[in-house]
Amino acid sequence: MPILEVKQLTKVFGSDPKRALPLLEQGWSKEKILQESRLTVGVNQASFSIEQGEIFVIMGLSGSGKSTLVRLLNRLIEPTSGQVLFEGTDVLKMNPEALRQFRRKNIGMVFQKFGLFPHRTVLQNAEYGLEVQGIPKKERTEKAMEALSLVGLNGWEHSRPDQLSGGMQQRVGLARVLANDPDILLMDEAFSALDPLIRKDMQQELVELQSKMQKTIVFITHDLDEALRIGDRIALMKDGTVVQIGTPEEILIQPANKYVERFVEDVDLSKVLTAAHVMRKPETVSIERGPRVALQLMRESGVSSLYVTDKSKKLIGIVTADDAAQAIKDGSALEAVLQLDVPKVLPDMLLNDMFDLISSTRLPVAVVDEDERLKGIVIKGSVLSALAGNAVPEAGNGI
Ligand code: ADP
Ligand code: MG
Repeated sequence: MPILEVKQLTKVFGSDPKRALPLLEQGWSKEKILQESRLTVGVNQASFSIEQGEIFVIMGLSGSGKSTLVRLLNRLIEPTSGQVLFEGTDVLKMNPEALRQFRRKNIGMVFQKFGLFPHRTVLQNAEYGLEVQGIPKKERTEKAMEALSLVGLNGWEHSRPDQLSGGMQQRVGLARVLANDPDILLMDEAFSALDPLIRKDMQQELVELQSKMQKTIVFITHDLDEALRIGDRIALMKDGTVVQIGTPEEILIQPANKYVERFVEDVDLSKVLTAAHVMRKPETVSIERGPRVALQLMRESGVSSLYVTDKSKKLIGIVTADDAAQAIKDGSALEAVLQLDVPKVLPDMLLNDMFDLISSTRLPVAVVDEDERLKGIVIKGSVLSALAGNAVPEAGNGI
């Protein structure tokens, strides 16, 4: 079950807003509705699901409805029509007490203007949410300290916000929400006020934090680069309508319409797409298997070499069909004929930074994680194809 499901969610501002609903259903534009009825369409029949552990980015120009949409999710704004389901429970049917619990326990919000209390210390700011809930002092200090350490603010507990840089203040805002340990984090232009370099660091850290904590994050931005860098999926909004939802490469490579196309046309794909985006599934064999099994696997899958891993999927090397045949003849083990010198990169390596490596090797480049576990392989053809704007096939044995 998705953690959050949004169905035909609509918000219209103005008096007697429900008047606009039949007009929206007939496909009237935001502009026409404003002219004819003086109502402002904030969000127009948005539908999507967000999976647990996902970074879901809502992107669009200023005024496209992002803030309205994200505030509908926790009912800071009441919808005009539609549904919001949290783990299957209808958020719009919650009574005030249930809604309070939902906001405290399940869904936390980080704002752009950090919203810190100037006279409280960093620690007291981070504790705030827990204090409001009446959590005992010792426990809330513990949790707040833990959250501060997660965002890299060890040692700053007793400083006041104005002694901190903008980036660090934003970390405090984030720690305050993390201390509550919510399932979902809503972040509305959380990094937009930061300097570009600090902003990049924060994006990187958010992605790392997410992979550590497995939170679900709904991240609002008007910045395409930011969306592409951190989003697992991106919903692109225009005039209150969600015009496309997809992974970063789907948005770039298969724009749903002219609007999206124009939005993304200036992007240098090589600086956005990573090894993970273009990698394919490799054919592998475990080192404990002998050369006979290796050769058999190569025949079955029609490839001339295999990636050899240990039990925990750590990459050891490559074996070719010729070498496996030789090992069978010699009666030796796979180890004896392995090529250990395999070019490899981390999954988040940008294609732009891989060009030299790719052109200097005949082998596909292996994509391994920090523990050397094999995640995929990148072949020259799929890099060129992706950069030419073609979709990358899901899997294949293009060795
Ligand atoms: P974004 O966050 O993408 O910049 P918003 O969600 O703030 O966009 O705004 C979407 C549309 O709704 C805009 O046309 C805006 O003027 C309108 N809007 C937002 N809040 C209100 C409000 N409280 N009253 C009237 N119109 C509003
Ligand atoms: Mg906004």
